[in-house]
Amino acid sequence: MIPLAFDYEVAESVDHAIELLGQHGDEAKLLAGGHSLLPIMKLRLAAPTVLVDLGRLGDLNYVRDEGDHLAIGAMTRHCDMERDATLGEHCGLIAYTASLVGDPQVRHRGTIGGSISHGDAASDLPSALLALDANFVVKGSGGERTVAAGDFFEDYLQTILAPDEVLTEIQVPKLGGAGWSYKKFNRRAQDWAVVGVAAVVERSNGSIGSARIGLTNMGSTPLRATAAETALSGADPSSVAEATSSADEGTSPSSDIAASDEYRRHLARVLSKRAVEEALDR
Ligand SMILES: Cc1cc2nc3c(=O)[nH]c(=O)nc-3n(C[C@H](O)[C@H](O)[C@H](O)COP(=O)(O)OP(=O)(O)OC[C@H]3O[C@@H](n4cnc5c(N)ncnc54)[C@H](O)[C@@H]3O)c2cc1C
Repeated sequence: MIPLAFDYEVAESVDHAIELLGQHGDEAKLLAGGHSLLPIMKLRLAAPTVLVDLGRLGDLNYVRDEGDHLAIGAMTRHCDMERDATLGEHCGLIAYTASLVGDPQVRHRGTIGGSISHGDAASDLPSALLALDANFVVKGSGGERTVAAGDFFEDYLQTILAPDEVLTEIQVPKLGGAGWSYKKFNRRAQDWAVVGVAAVVERSNGSIGSARIGLTNMGSTPLRATAAETALSGADPSSVAEATSSADEGTSPSSDIAASDEYRRHLARVLSKRAVEEALDR
């Protein structure tokens, strides 16, 4: 399939990108790695008349140690996060989850900013970022704001981003002694998740202090398994199976060619148990 015709602009800076978005309004779309946008343009599910390319903004490709948290530039590619030593040391959940995205070609083009801004509940990184209580820095003509990951995703392919806003940075906490895990169930290694589960677990005197669980592909947005999180809080590690049996509560998974909604619910429960157990062991 061939996309409808569009104009192409190269952003020289974030401010220039915002200016170009302001000039073209709803008709314009930012282009990062192009690995989500171009497929939907080819299917004619999106038809922007202008693409504003962020590809030359090398200053948005970084992982920085900011003391209590790590800052990741929105144009950081999946393959860079996969190999980044600072992420590996302080937030292995992101490095590992990035390594499971698609195949090497996808990981060499796709960016964390594109993955979040696209707002696809089947993407792996958003649920990991939910489990981390990450923050997103967004800049537009009205200035800069920081949005919690939990407030960012609104509905299927919809986020709180205004048409003239650029996601510039992702802030994730250092995990310290907390354990983490991401369990992705897919049919072939390079496939999207049928269901994925991210877990971040803090231990406290032999018990589970707190657990945060992010769910991939269990509704129209990435979700938190709040009922299971509540059941796990303060629980004995031997009760993980019972506590995670509510992991699908409050979700609304779809049925499609890959799985029925009931099977997705089953996967959410099983993968949550495995993810929390692995996080406790890490
Ligand atoms: C074959 C294939 C397999 C894949 N498998 C997986 C998988 O297993 N798991 C997974 O998670 N993903 C998968 N993906 C998606 C991949 O991770 C994409 O790279 C990612 O979702 C989008 O990132 P991008 O940089 O390519 O964004 P683009 O496609 O360039 O942009 C996506 C959307 O985000 C907007 N956008 C981009 N950057 C910004 C920004 N900084 N600020 C505001 N808006 C912005 C764009 O305007 C567009 O609407 C797959 C893709 C393909 C083609």
